Parts: sequence; C-alpha cells; structure tokens
Amino acid sequence: MIHSKKQGSLIIISGTTCAGKGTVVQELLKRNENLCLSVSYTSRAPRDGEQEGKDYYFVSKENFEKKIAANDFLEYAYVHNSNYYGTPKKEVKDLLNDGKDVILEIEVQGAQLVKQLFPETILIFVMAPSMTEIKKRIIARGQESKEQMIKRFQTAYQEINEIPKYNYVVINDEVSKAVSKIEAILISEKCRVDRIEEIAVENQEEIIHEFLMDKDFDNSNSFQIKG
Ligand code: 5GP
Repeated sequence: MIHSKKQGSLIIISGTTCAGKGTVVQELLKRNENLCLSVSYTSRAPRDGEQEGKDYYFVSKENFEKKIAANDFLEYAYVHNSNYYGTPKKEVKDLLNDGKDVILEIEVQGAQLVKQLFPETILIFVMAPSMTEIKKRIIARGQESKEQMIKRFQTAYQEINEIPKYNYVVINDEVSKAVSKIEAILISEKCRVDRIEEIAVENQEEIIHEFLMDKDFDNSNSFQIKG
C-alpha cells in the first residue's frame, strides 16, 4: 500500500578514534542482510591483521593521487595529516541502485562532503565512553609512533566538536547496545514520510459498495450509512 524508495539508504558512521566503530559496523553487517560496507582506499600501511579488500584497498600515495585525478572518489580526505582515505564512487552508486543500504565508515570532513552531495544521508557519530578510555585504547593498539598517537588523540577532540553536524550520536559503552541503537535509527529512517514515493490505496467506491452489500454490516448498530 505504501511504496517507499527502492534505492538503498546511504549511512555514514563516523566517530572518534578508538570508539570501536569497526566492531560496531561488523556486528551490524552480521545482523542485517541488506546492509553492506563500502571498502575505502587508503595510502596508509596495513595494520597487523588487516586484509586487502576487506578493511581497505591499500595503495601508494602516488596511486591514490592518480585515482583523485581520474575522479574515482565520491569524497576523499587527508587524515591525521599523514594519509589519504577515499570512498570509491562507482561501487557505492551501484550498491545503492541495487537497493542495498550502504555504510561509509569515514571521518568528519568526508561525511560533510557526502552530505552535500546526498542530503538524505543518515549521519551517525559513535563515541567512546570517555577520553581517558580513548587514550588507553590508543596505547593498547600500540602500532604507531608516539607522535602519531598524540595526533590521533588531538584529532579526537576536534572531531567531538563536529557532533552537531550529525543526525545521531551513539555511545559505544557496550557493542550490542550500540548496535541495537543504530538498528533502531535505521528502522525509523525507513519509515520517514519523505522516503515514500507513492501511497496506493484501494478504490473508495468499491469498498463502500462492499459495505453496502455486506449483510452483517446492515445488522450492525454501530455504524449506518444514510441516504
Ligand atoms: P584508520 O587509520 O583508523 O583506519 O582510519 C582513520 C580515519 O579515517 C577514521 O576516522 C576512518 O573513519 C576514516 N576513513 C576511513 N575511510 C575513509 C574514507 O574513505 N574517507 C574518509 N573521508 N575517511 C575515511
């Protein structure tokens, strides 16, 4: 009866460093078949355990710049003053046209660029429970120089100032709770009136005729059609 847009939703999940976005996103993907993640390109080196094509497409700075020149990115940013990160344009458009809901796990500058291009994008910011917790997690990850870790920590403060540009904020104190909150957001977004393309209701005269022909209806005291 209500036909909503067939095109999938574009969802941005940003958050401070070490907010646990990656874990939250993986859990969302496991629990929701129609959701998929756009894999970004980056010029940073892979961390231990990261896989090509799953976590990122890892390319050199030169190759990244060639892709910028070829207009291959929906958006890209130079993050933490050290590396490029970019969202591949064609893959995202194809997935949306297939009706998939696509998650972009990107930082705040990129999020704003995408919002300008696609104003219907749903922007969700995931927060760690505290800055002390972020510091602990950065140190525990321990795969960067002290200078890089401090840059990451400083960027977290700048990113928090950007929260008003998002539609939703979710605190990740417990992964399953954070995931449930995001699922609730996505369900509500699907019910938005501005996602409706058509409201097709049955013909009024036909239904009234059915009423009039209905014997049980004639005997009912609750409602009568006169004239
Ligand atoms: P990390 O090095 O920890 O994997 O990512 C650093 C930051 O870059 C994170 O905030 C992550 O969300 C962001 N990021 C990852 N991919 C992209 C992308 O394609 N575009 C933009 N703008 N940011 C990205």
